Amino acid sequence: MEDTYRHKGLRRLLVEEIAGKGITDEKVLEAIGKVPRHAFIRDSALIQFAYQDQAFPIGAGQTISQPYTVAFQTQLLQVNSFDKILEIGTGSGYQAAILCEMGARVYTIERQRELHVKAQQLLGKMGYKLHFYYGDGYAGLPAYAPFDKILVTAGADKIPDTLVQQLKTGGRMVIPVGNSEQQKMILIEKISETETTVTQHGTFAFVPFLKGKA
Ligand code: SAH
Repeated sequence: MEDTYRHKGLRRLLVEEIAGKGITDEKVLEAIGKVPRHAFIRDSALIQFAYQDQAFPIGAGQTISQPYTVAFQTQLLQVNSFDKILEIGTGSGYQAAILCEMGARVYTIERQRELHVKAQQLLGKMGYKLHFYYGDGYAGLPAYAPFDKILVTAGADKIPDTLVQQLKTGGRMVIPVGNSEQQKMILIEKISETETTVTQHGTFAFVPFLKGKA
C-alpha cells in the first residue's frame, strides 16, 4: 500500500497528539511516526481514520489497539535495540512493527489462525523481519525463553506464572489485568530469579484473552 505525503503528514499529527497525552519516550514517538498504520486497517471504509487515536476492528472479533495504548505499553516496556521481546496477541501486527522499528528482536504469538496468517503476510511484504507463532500465548514460548521483555496485548484475568518464568532477571513484562470490561496496566519487573516488583499504571480496555484450544 502506498505511503503518501498526506499519510506522513497525518502521522506527524498523530505523534504530536500522543506526545500531548503524555508519551515522552522519543524512540516510541519516532516509531509511531514511521509505521504506516493505514496498512494495518483491513476495512477499507475505516482506512481514512487510520491516524485517529482510536482502536478499530480487524476481523475475528479483534481490534488494532489505540495508538496511545500501543505507545503507553511500549514506553512502559523501556525497549532497547536488540532486546528479545515476546508479544502475546499479534492481531494486526501493528504493535510488532513498532517493536521492530525500535530495533527489537520480536517473537509474536496469535491464537487465531486468520489473524496470524494475515499479519505474517503483511509484515513480510513490508520488509519486517520477526518470528510469528500460531498458538496459545498463555504458554509463552519456552523453547526461546528467556526474554528481555514480554508484552501482552489482550486483557488477562491474572498474571500468568508461565510468562513470568520466561522473563530474564532484570526483564520487564507489561500486561493488562482485570475483567472483560477494563484492566489495570501492570508492570512486572523481575529483580531476581524468584522475586518480582509489581506496579499499576492506569486503566485500559482491551479485548479479553482467549482461553483453551483454538
Ligand atoms: N497487538 C495487536 C492488538 C491485539 S488485540 C495489534 O497491534 O494489532 C489482542 C489479540 O490477542 C487478538 O488478535 C487476539 O486474537 C489475540 N489473543 C487472544 N487470546 C490469545 C491467546 N491466548 N494467545 C495468543 N493470542 C491471543
